[in-house]
Amino acid sequence: MSTEHSAPVVSNFIRSTIDADLASGKHASIVTRFPPEPNGYLHVGHAKSICLNFGLAEDYAGKCHLRMDDTNPEKESDEYVQAIKEGVEWLGFKWDGHVRFASDYFDALYDYALELIASGKAFVDDLSAEEMRAYRGSLTEPGRESPYRTRSVEENLDLFTRMKAGEFADGSKTLRLKIDMSSGNVNLRDPVIYRIRRAHHHRTGDKWCIYPMYDYTHCISDALEGITHSLCTLEFEDHRPLYDWVLDNISIACHPRQYEFSRLELMYALTSKRKLNQLVVDGVVSGWDDPRMPTIAGMRRRGMSPEGIRLFAQRIGVSRSENVVDMSILEGAVRDTLEGESPRVMAVVNPLKVTLTNFDAALAGSRSAPFHPKHPELGERDVPLSREIWIERDDFAAVPPPKWQRLIEGGEVRLRYSYVVKCDEVVTDASGEITELRCSIDYDTLGKNPEGRKVKGVIHWVSAEHALEAEVRWYDRLFTEARPDAVRGEDGEYVDFRHFLSENSLKTITAYVEPAVKDAAPETRYHFERVGYFVTDRIDHVAGGKPVFNRTVGLKDTWAK
Ligand code: ATP
Ligand code: MG
Repeated sequence: MSTEHSAPVVSNFIRSTIDADLASGKHASIVTRFPPEPNGYLHVGHAKSICLNFGLAEDYAGKCHLRMDDTNPEKESDEYVQAIKEGVEWLGFKWDGHVRFASDYFDALYDYALELIASGKAFVDDLSAEEMRAYRGSLTEPGRESPYRTRSVEENLDLFTRMKAGEFADGSKTLRLKIDMSSGNVNLRDPVIYRIRRAHHHRTGDKWCIYPMYDYTHCISDALEGITHSLCTLEFEDHRPLYDWVLDNISIACHPRQYEFSRLELMYALTSKRKLNQLVVDGVVSGWDDPRMPTIAGMRRRGMSPEGIRLFAQRIGVSRSENVVDMSILEGAVRDTLEGESPRVMAVVNPLKVTLTNFDAALAGSRSAPFHPKHPELGERDVPLSREIWIERDDFAAVPPPKWQRLIEGGEVRLRYSYVVKCDEVVTDASGEITELRCSIDYDTLGKNPEGRKVKGVIHWVSAEHALEAEVRWYDRLFTEARPDAVRGEDGEYVDFRHFLSENSLKTITAYVEPAVKDAAPETRYHFERVGYFVTDRIDHVAGGKPVFNRTVGLKDTWAK
């Protein structure tokens, strides 16, 4: 990552813990992990967790593992595994060694289960899911012990082995830990650690018909990998006693410590794979990588930079307090990284024709202009002028508001990198709509102010003869509500977030762009002067013969009002 964009590292409670653990000699170096479930594409919340886990490993010269938490075969797939790997790499991180899978540990997990049974700490239960719910109690009432809890070790070993062998129907039995049905922490009320599920697994195929549960799998996977600091989001805080209980009750030497931080929630976006999947399934978006999706793949296709997302993660920090963040923080970080790196060109997105009545090709041909005012290393390109040009319709006002500095009838404005022109005549059609401006060039204004008067406005433009027609996909927020999944109706129930889908999240328009962008490769970023940041589409960078540009973000400031 270029250091230019890195904010100073702000300490947080996790860093303080690591500092103390290294200082005391508890650990010589750290090992973290990022453990996604491959049941969807990663989103901006995962990006926060990736930057945290991989970032700590980088900063402390430790290691970070990428582990697919693949214990729910029905929802998981190899497509998701690939997308997750691609997302992490694109963000600029490298996992230590090979990609790990919880399913790599299915044998070990099974053996630990046998050990727990043998020591009388786990039992096979025949209660149905419904009965188990009734026995579990509530937050205010203790649960009741299952009538099968007193089965002998021998019987449990026999039944569990036969569960594995496929002798029992799906859902007919479970393996549960024997902890405490009266615990104030519901997670400790004899949690289920294995269920019978005949499902094809993306890696182990049909080898298993019993699958371990998340809580049981996660702590053991961490310990097997020698993780030192296991970082997860706050909803797992109540699971920590179970994490510790499992590791304390099996013969495993390593005992990682779990620390929780708050989940990122991004306003005007969803940070749940399940809900994002719904948008994909419903066809509301074109796929997981639709540029409106807050997925890593979507943000990439939108034109955001990995440096921008990393800077965003640094800026929002890590803590245990609520982390609801405005979209402008993400956009600001992205803009800050694109500002110095994107070549600037002119593009007109809402064109109005201007005829330069005194255009003389012998006097006014093409001029060279730098791609970036502060970064000469980005090079220069020719900006051709011709008799007809396009300007932005908004840059002309028939009835100007106060302080207007752009074009009016009889007024003057500078064409960026070129001459001052005067609007001599406004041409309208039968309905009164302005169809053309007829302007004249002041040939004495190239690179200097006109004599005896000030012309403050500067507008962008493109030569009609030379411009390329481009398809611009003008993206905006997907939702009209800041927290689309947190709105309650009159009945007190959550309103379906799809109710708040914006109708303006994508407008496809034809724009005119400088010829300099011709043949731009997929994923080339540009700053369209006074308009915003754009990127050529990664998937279809040319459509119908036209280059396709996705609008990444707008500009905070325009350089001429
Ligand atoms: P989702 O509800 O979107 O599926 P999840 O937490 O179930 O999210 P996992 O694939 O299990 O998704 O998450 C992998 C890691 O990313 C976990 O450590 C999890 O805590 C972290 N993570 C997930 N969502 C967020 C978020 N919004 N903010 C920060 N970290 C997150
Ligand atoms: Mg999950």
